[in-house]
Amino acid sequence: MAKLASEPDRSLCTRLLAGPSPSHARELAQSRYPLAMYTEGLAHGKPAYGHGGYISIPELPAGVAIRKSCRPDIIEESAYIRILPPAGGWLGADTLERLADCADKYGKGLVHFTTGGTIEIYTTREQMVPMVKELNRAGLDVGSTGDDLRCITSCCGPARCDVALIDAPALATYLGRRFMDEQQFPGYPQKVKSGVAGCPNDCIRAMMEKDHSLVGVYRDLPVVNEKRLMAWREAGGDLDALVQACPAQALHRDGETLTILADRCWRCMVCINRCPAIRPGKERGVAWIAGGKYGHRGPQGPMVGYVLIPFLPITNEDYSAIGDLFGAFLELWADHARKKERVGDFLARVGPLWVLKQLGIEAQPQILLSPKRNGY
Ligand code: SF4
Ligand code: SF4
Repeated sequence: MAKLASEPDRSLCTRLLAGPSPSHARELAQSRYPLAMYTEGLAHGKPAYGHGGYISIPELPAGVAIRKSCRPDIIEESAYIRILPPAGGWLGADTLERLADCADKYGKGLVHFTTGGTIEIYTTREQMVPMVKELNRAGLDVGSTGDDLRCITSCCGPARCDVALIDAPALATYLGRRFMDEQQFPGYPQKVKSGVAGCPNDCIRAMMEKDHSLVGVYRDLPVVNEKRLMAWREAGGDLDALVQACPAQALHRDGETLTILADRCWRCMVCINRCPAIRPGKERGVAWIAGGKYGHRGPQGPMVGYVLIPFLPITNEDYSAIGDLFGAFLELWADHARKKERVGDFLARVGPLWVLKQLGIEAQPQILLSPKRNGY
């Protein structure tokens, strides 16, 4: 006699709802999200949502993402739009309230902050236009869907971080405003993600995750404050461990004195992160890196970006030259990339030197000697 298939375990979701700690399942359950879709997916070991895609709705600038349902008896489809977030992830209580109001009034009372940096509100096709109009009134734009320029993310920058070398949210805001059409009207061969990090710590992992990243760098030497170094030592700071931590053997100890060997130093952040007496140099700018795509397969598989220009100066917070370069690169890629070719695969196919030549930029020797190790 044929064995009966065992009854799917529908208690998994209930277990995720239990306990005092925060739980995504509890947030879903508190909204009008159809929790049965999640329960069924867990019980059967595969999501209850099927293939997704984007559709255009007249009056809306960006595409609306639609995901098919494998259980139309629970919900017909999932529809959501992406909202471009303020750079740095800063959202005031008022803006959060407006988002919550929109999610409640037009959606399922649920807001999703994506790993790519956008904000999604789940709703229906019919509710999209009035919801977007209300979002616009709240000062929020929609976009970042399909083969377009995805939202330009940044780290928190100098609004909170003590080692920020550039104002990353300000640069991301500048680029976001200048390239708004490109974020709202899909017209590229593939999606292109961009990020701005305030220093080589790259907390947002732009070099790995973004097709196009700008990372704050310095090109003189880190500055050692002798007085602070002494205080740090007296508070238990270990000078030998600090010297050993330098990846380039560029720190030299002579008694209580610390020197940095200029010809060895990579201008990284290791000693700066470890010791508050060492601060980044004063000559600051951005490195231009392209082709990161961890989490994406494509012909080359996951990739860390290529450092194309190790140092672009920023003077008086004027970002126009960086914007010109950003735009020129996107145009070049759009004109020469194959259909569905991510920036990293394109760069690997045509070569970074070809790209620099087309853009009229002289290649710097360090990008050839160790392109994936440290460009600074
Ligand atoms: S990337 Fe650098 S500047 Fe930005 S938050 Fe991280 S440490 Fe601070
Ligand atoms: S910046 Fe990096 S390479 Fe230079 S001295 Fe500090 S740890 Fe060493």
